[in-house]
Amino acid sequence: MNIVLLGPPGCGKGTQARRIEENHGLKQLSTGDMLRAAVEAGSEIGTQLAEIMNEGQLVPDDIIIGMISERISGPDCAQGFILDGFPRTLVQAEALDAMLEQKGLALRSVISLTVDDDAMVERISGRFTCAACGAGYHDSFKPPRNPGRCDDCGDRTFSRRDDDNAETVRHRLTAYHDMTAPILPYYEGRGILRPVDGMAAIDSVTAEINALVRAA
Ligand code: ADP
Ligand code: ADP
Ligand code: ZN
Repeated sequence: MNIVLLGPPGCGKGTQARRIEENHGLKQLSTGDMLRAAVEAGSEIGTQLAEIMNEGQLVPDDIIIGMISERISGPDCAQGFILDGFPRTLVQAEALDAMLEQKGLALRSVISLTVDDDAMVERISGRFTCAACGAGYHDSFKPPRNPGRCDDCGDRTFSRRDDDNAETVRHRLTAYHDMTAPILPYYEGRGILRPVDGMAAIDSVTAEINALVRAA
């Protein structure tokens, strides 16, 4: 089963994708994580990517489409995958359809997390992750159970993203409304769009998504 998670920056895509991976055995494919790995690797293209990301702009479609197309036929996606942060433009959505068709695959549902933009600045400003295992946290909404220690792996090192500041978030929200929101009708027209209230508590959102995935 192959699923897309859609929604503005901070809506909970990463948090929920990780849980879907655990609960349903689907592989989480996050274009944001792939891009950050490319930046970490320190290549020349990495420097250009970092500039775009720190401005809160979208990375060019051809780079993103190339990254995803390599990954979706990997052996770790044999049970299916959950796309987190892709597609983000109509061009990407159409490219996804073309590559799925070529590989004999299909999209089961597109889960759209609906949220208030105003709440996303606080979500993103308080976001941090475990540097060892990538588990996601929030200063107010999801602090580690033992302060300073990762719930999942016990590590004590955490990191915050360079682009998680109030100014960049505004640009990212604008990019979402201009470039990404227009793909919602594309999926709605095909009857596979499934809106979920992303303002609910993290566990309630997970419960709703679990029910959708089981019914799919
Ligand atoms: P995205 O991947 O869509 O940008 P994240 O999953 O990283 O979003 O979530 C952004 C921040 O908000 C994280 O710090 C996360 O812990 C927190 N968060 C995620 N979902 C919720 C929720 N439903 N309620 C409150 N905080 C949330
Ligand atoms: P969030 O959903 O929290 O904004 P992501 O980790 O998904 O963050 O993405 C971080 C940044 O990486 C984006 O602001 C954008 O610059 C770039 N990016 C990620 N996915 C895509 C994509 N599908 N198309 C274009 N740019 C992308
Ligand atoms: Zn950890």
